[in-house]
Amino acid sequence: MQNDMLHRGMAFGGILYITMASRATKLLNEFLSRSYRLAHELDKARAVAESTARTDVLTGLRNRRAFYEQGEAVVQNATRSGRSCAAVMIDIDRFKSINDRFGHAAGDEVIKSLATVLKDTVRDGELAARLGGEEFVVLLPEGSSADAEALAERIRTRAEAHAAIVDSTEIAFTVSLGVASRGDDCATLDALIAFADSALYASKEGGRNKVSVAPPRNTGHPLVE
Ligand code: GH3
Ligand code: MG
Ligand code: MG
Repeated sequence: MQNDMLHRGMAFGGILYITMASRATKLLNEFLSRSYRLAHELDKARAVAESTARTDVLTGLRNRRAFYEQGEAVVQNATRSGRSCAAVMIDIDRFKSINDRFGHAAGDEVIKSLATVLKDTVRDGELAARLGGEEFVVLLPEGSSADAEALAERIRTRAEAHAAIVDSTEIAFTVSLGVASRGDDCATLDALIAFADSALYASKEGGRNKVSVAPPRNTGHPLVE
């Protein structure tokens, strides 16, 4: 009788143990899979936040920060290996008067039209970015001055033909461009951009809707032919 009670007690204890253990295992599994899902979602959210911080909201192009991060490495590489590297600066002509005549929202559509031209014109590996306002840039890793000038001319003609359409009104626009290459003593991205900017200024001075190339300078950083 006593033995029987003991066996029953042990059986009950065993069943209780198995039930508790399987419930604990299930809870642990649920907890682990929830943690895994949370970690995965956190990774995704972090990737989206990082990409958002590098993207210009209006155009979807790289923003200034992303451009300088990537561009600095490109120019340093070119300088180290003695290879060419070129930049094209782009600025919409008389943009203030477009805003004044058609409104700020229409001005934004013109900015988006130019961004579309850039996306359709630059090749893989070339870095296009909106630096701010109505000012854009394209960096051509390993590109020569002639490559950059040809690209600038393509952008100029395509922009001229790519009017923004706002409420069925066509808003035509033009751009001025400046080209500089590493052979113009551009050992740093800042120097390259400054030379391209001075060439852009020459295009504005020369009547706008133009491409100008920064004059060659003696650099001390010779190009590898
Ligand atoms: P220029 O041919 O010499 O370049 O003349 P511009 O009128 O284009 O140049 P300016 O620098 O005088 O004017 C730029 C204007 O761009 C002034 C500013 O209000 C406007 N702007 C800057 N950012 C934005 C933007 O994100 N959207 C719109 N719609 N306008 C902007
Ligand atoms: Mg302008
Ligand atoms: Mg400007």
